[in-house]
Amino acid sequence: MTTPHYIDGRWVEGQGSDCIVVHNPSDGQPFAELMAASSAQVDQAVAAARRALAPWKTVSATERATYLRGFAEQLGQRRDELIALQMRNNGKPRHEAEIDLDDASATFAYYADLAEQLPAKNRDVPLAAPGFTARTRLEPVGVVGLIVPWNFPLVTSAWKLAPALAAGCTVVLKPSEITPLIEQAYGQIAEVLGLPAGVLNIVGGKAETGAALSGHNGLDKLSFTGSNGVGSQVMRAAAAQCRPITLELGGKSAIVVFDDCDVDQAVEWIVAGITWNAGQMCSATSRLLVQEGIADALLPRLQAALVALRVGNPLTEEVDMGPLTSQAQWLKVAGYFATAREEGLKCLAGGTALDRDGWFVSPTLYVDVPVSSRLWGEEIFGPVLCARRFGSEAEAIAQANDSRFGLVATVCSADLERAERVADALEVGHVWINSVQAVFVETSWGGTKGSGIGRELGPWGLSGYQSVKHVTRCLG
Ligand code: NAD
Repeated sequence: MTTPHYIDGRWVEGQGSDCIVVHNPSDGQPFAELMAASSAQVDQAVAAARRALAPWKTVSATERATYLRGFAEQLGQRRDELIALQMRNNGKPRHEAEIDLDDASATFAYYADLAEQLPAKNRDVPLAAPGFTARTRLEPVGVVGLIVPWNFPLVTSAWKLAPALAAGCTVVLKPSEITPLIEQAYGQIAEVLGLPAGVLNIVGGKAETGAALSGHNGLDKLSFTGSNGVGSQVMRAAAAQCRPITLELGGKSAIVVFDDCDVDQAVEWIVAGITWNAGQMCSATSRLLVQEGIADALLPRLQAALVALRVGNPLTEEVDMGPLTSQAQWLKVAGYFATAREEGLKCLAGGTALDRDGWFVSPTLYVDVPVSSRLWGEEIFGPVLCARRFGSEAEAIAQANDSRFGLVATVCSADLERAERVADALEVGHVWINSVQAVFVETSWGGTKGSGIGRELGPWGLSGYQSVKHVTRCLG
């Protein structure tokens, strides 16, 4: 048992009714237990954030930046421990856990810089009309609830916490019940840095705790990352109070491979786009569109590359891919394997759970998947790739855009003019040309259509936590 909740600058036991059991997905064994925060504790956290708001808003930009740089540095100091915990609780291979840690740290450093630039953004607005002056103030939106999933816990939370704190907001963070320990590091770092009590609060729990937070009438905004099903419930809770919301939801993203590509390079990009984090990425490029002229050469090599991947326990073996992070996710992916068999899909690799302890599945490739297939249309959230062929550029764009999601896409082509043209035509929030999953803190993150509302990262991530005020004065 741990005391997992950080409320008003103190660590407290959970008083909720849910017991959360934390597992190692590589062997399926539990290694920690904690009680969820109760609704009353969510109330206490929101009240603490409200009390802390007025003083935190007036802290100088330089001081706020110093705290944020402190988060970046402390993450670096706790590097080994946090990498080990992500490997143990998420099942991430070491190199992926390292990248997550570096990404989180870079996010805090980036928003420290942006916090310092804030005073210069409050400036006069030139007016065409005589007799008036006007000036802009970028103010924090207020007390913000942050609800996050389990697939990139350090990173997703950093993408919300760093800009929110930079903007001058106070926050209540609810981590996922699957990975409830990792974000405790942010509370511990806040303590070490002497961040004023109530500026950052962390309440752990399942749906009940999440719902208590998302429906809380003491919030000024909610930022949610997770599934479309829960996103829709969170949106309803926000609608009931006409409150602003950011939603980072699911995806079913395309990777488009034209026939002028180097086959081996294309295979590398395709494999990375579907097996990184065992495919548990909102941005997984899980729909492969391959041009007729290259398909016969590419698909057998892709099959061989997927079959050759080393899948195993990242704590004890050299692996390319770890397990799925939860038993629920493993059962869900196994359910899609069963659907694929029922639908008669042609499987070139995988399509099965591994016969060993832990929540492992094989990297999987289905080809010639009809657009009517559930596997073509739905987010699976596992290492399951569905492929189709296309003839013309127009056909590739039409097939890629034929989705209720619109998060990301990858375009692979030696013809850069064409790649740029296709990138412009894709209905998504982010396109990678001849690269995969390269996320930089300076660029935006977020989707169109069913993939969400709003953007994280870059200056857009900061704007999500700011409210624009204008002060207009009559000179007469
Ligand atoms: P999920 O929606 O089940 O849970 C997300 C969070 O919501 C968790 O903290 C959970 O406890 C909480 N929650 C559950 N029920 C709730 C309720 N009724 N009210 C309020 N909160 C509630 O998602 P998940 O399984 O943790 O994560 C996987 C999903 O997240 C995938 O769909 C993936 O695409 C998406 N995701 C999106 C992005 C992005 O940036 N677009 C990034 C990562 C993950």
